[in-house]
Amino acid sequence: MKILALESSCDETAAAVVEDGRLVRSSVIASQVEEHKLYGGVVPEIASRRHSEAIVPVTQKALDDAGMTLDEIDAIAVTYAPGLIGALLVGVNFAKGLSLSAKKPLIPVHHLRSHIAANYITAPELEPPFLCLVVSGGHTHIVEVNGYTDLRVIGCTRDDAAGEAFDKAARAMGMPYPGGVEMDRIAENGDPMAFRLPHPKVDGAPYDFSFSGLKTAVINLIHNAKQKGEELPVPDLAASFRKAVVDCLVQNFVKAAEAFGSKKLVIAGGVSANSLLRRRLDEECRKHGWKLYMPALNLCGDNAAMVGAQGYYEFLAGNTAGLDLNACAEMPIQGPQG
Ligand code: ATP
Ligand code: MG
Ligand code: FE
Repeated sequence: MKILALESSCDETAAAVVEDGRLVRSSVIASQVEEHKLYGGVVPEIASRRHSEAIVPVTQKALDDAGMTLDEIDAIAVTYAPGLIGALLVGVNFAKGLSLSAKKPLIPVHHLRSHIAANYITAPELEPPFLCLVVSGGHTHIVEVNGYTDLRVIGCTRDDAAGEAFDKAARAMGMPYPGGVEMDRIAENGDPMAFRLPHPKVDGAPYDFSFSGLKTAVINLIHNAKQKGEELPVPDLAASFRKAVVDCLVQNFVKAAEAFGSKKLVIAGGVSANSLLRRRLDEECRKHGWKLYMPALNLCGDNAAMVGAQGYYEFLAGNTAGLDLNACAEMPIQGPQG
């Protein structure tokens, strides 16, 4: 089954053709990041306008790269939640137009489920059940993936997402948006023990996270130093901050795996590209004899190939939509009913 997939939940306009959930025939991403950089973060209205301009040429290129016409496509999958509402609506409405004109089924896909599905492309043998750490710009969840469309959140962040914390701390260190990637690069040359930063825990919720106190601690360090006319060494700060975030992520994920008896661990989302997180989880999984799955680096961030992968399993589960499909800014990963 060939699925044409569309993604426009944030600042990437993406389209892909994916066969049977695993084989990527084409994947096109138009990123708006250079424009949003000017403002230090994503400006929602600009994002919507750029999606409107990009969605037709990006989709056409995905079809051309796959060497297919719309007639040869079996269904249209689209990210419908969660994300920036004006951005999502561009993809959803375009997908509805395609579905109507080409008379193809329409498959709504949850953005975080698709981040997880990036792993089905990277590891064709991977099947649920498994335990997944979803770490992205807007979310930090530990998810029990019991089936392709049967997911349960067992822990999440109480405040900032890991990616958001990386981006805000990186900004305070003078790095351009989105700072997570840059911080990861610079941290490689720093001393992670140079600064002692808090490792916040949530009382009574061993699988939940809290990153806002850690982010504020590093921002305060920088401001206090500035007031005294001092400059802190950025590589050491970056390395110490990265270590603190990764310590928290790894600690809770390992605790959850032990408690739930999971032997298959998966990571997903933009922050799953973090090199320290990947190394540390690799060590932990070797030590415990667990199998670790990580998305290929080019599938960690937002893309449409992952939407095509998840879309296939949503279709098999009977999850198609009518032309009254709407976008939702927020939606639990379990689905609309929560
Ligand atoms: P969500 O998926 O929650 O809706 P999003 O789509 O904006 O949010 P993603 O595209 O999944 O988020 O990921 C982007 C985030 O990943 C940004 O916060 C970015 O800084 C972070 N990120 C990317 N690479 C790295 C890295 N190597 N280390 C740390 N963070 C990273
Ligand atoms: Mg993005
Ligand atoms: Fe995302």
